[in-house]
Amino acid sequence: MKGLWVFLTLAVAVLAKENFVGQQVLRITAKNEAEISLLMELSQLEHLQLDFWMEPIDESLPVDVRVPFHSLQPVKSFLAYNDIHYDIMIEDLQDLLDMEQREMMNSRFLQPRSTDDFNYASYHTLSEINSFIDMLVQENPNLVSKLVIGQSYEGRPLNVLKFSTGANRPGIWIDTGIHSREWVTQASGTWFAKKIVSDYGSDAALTAILDKFDIFLEIVTNPDGFHFTHTSNRMWRKTRKPNSGSACIGVDPNRNWDAGFGGAGSSNSPCSETYRGPYAHSEPEVKAIVDFVISHGNLKAFVSIHSYSQMLLYPYGYIRTPCTDHAELDALAKKAITDLKSLYGTNYKYGSIINTIYQASGGTIDWTYNQGIKYSYTFELRDTGRFGFVLPANQIIPTAQETWLALMAIMEHTKDNSY
Ligand SMILES: [Zn+2]
Repeated sequence: MKGLWVFLTLAVAVLAKENFVGQQVLRITAKNEAEISLLMELSQLEHLQLDFWMEPIDESLPVDVRVPFHSLQPVKSFLAYNDIHYDIMIEDLQDLLDMEQREMMNSRFLQPRSTDDFNYASYHTLSEINSFIDMLVQENPNLVSKLVIGQSYEGRPLNVLKFSTGANRPGIWIDTGIHSREWVTQASGTWFAKKIVSDYGSDAALTAILDKFDIFLEIVTNPDGFHFTHTSNRMWRKTRKPNSGSACIGVDPNRNWDAGFGGAGSSNSPCSETYRGPYAHSEPEVKAIVDFVISHGNLKAFVSIHSYSQMLLYPYGYIRTPCTDHAELDALAKKAITDLKSLYGTNYKYGSIINTIYQASGGTIDWTYNQGIKYSYTFELRDTGRFGFVLPANQIIPTAQETWLALMAIMEHTKDNSY
């Protein structure tokens, strides 16, 4: 009887999952502003249900778009008619997702009994990551503790790992997964957590950092969205709070902060992937961090990690005016991406958000910077679009390893330059 129940539960879970059979991801290369304008018009056609992984901004950046099967013909005809060049980056998205699922299934045969057994080279569900967090705390009671800084809209705990070797220290914050579909970020966050406990006491640089600073790490910053990517829709980006007066769910938690809130580079439409929300800090996942930052009062660095496109960015995103510390942040970004590249040759761009990627209002690190946290950075991890949000699991560890070198550069500089 129990077997049948499990089977039925699995069958329902499979049926409830959004299917991406025949969906393609196109990379569109616009030659000029006129073509960008046409792409912007295309993006407004809601019946096509296009999901822009990289939005049309200007001709310096490619445009990546996930196209549902029923829209492939009209979109390709539109592009051909207007003589706009495109390549097919992902031939059939469901094929990639099936591979991802098979890989996760295979890694699940061994239930880890310690964080040494944990498979860092695989993607994991929310409950698996939560078990990892609890194991890590249990194994390292003198170094690691778990803070619950709030609850998600659906009532899940917002867990933050605190690495600390003494009282009353200034802090360094790192978060991953605020956009739930960016799976390589939560996976990297898990690897970072283990790296910190492994290196403390053996690596001189990390030990020196932890002897002066606490490190706070929120691995699953948008747990409702992350759970939803596993159970229902792998491509979910936003929070899961309903919007009054709309059938569309969720807010973009990286447009919800009180820094240029509501300005250009964010949407007022609840159906948009960049919907800013009804007011600043409306999302409990954002508000919990805001309250934490304010009550802590002594964070010196704040790093918010996204994927994809291989960039290291600093403020601002909502205005063109360079921030006060532009020169220092720029030099440190250059050092960090140089260190990152030294491991596997991965190339990163760097600069202010508005000049490097696009104008974005209400973003996390613009708010933290305006709160006085000088070393505020955002990463966009691998890749540059070959797999986009569906980065194969065999790239998790290399991605985490190279990113760690950049994080170390930022944390060391923070240690040497904060008073
Ligand atoms: Zn993101």
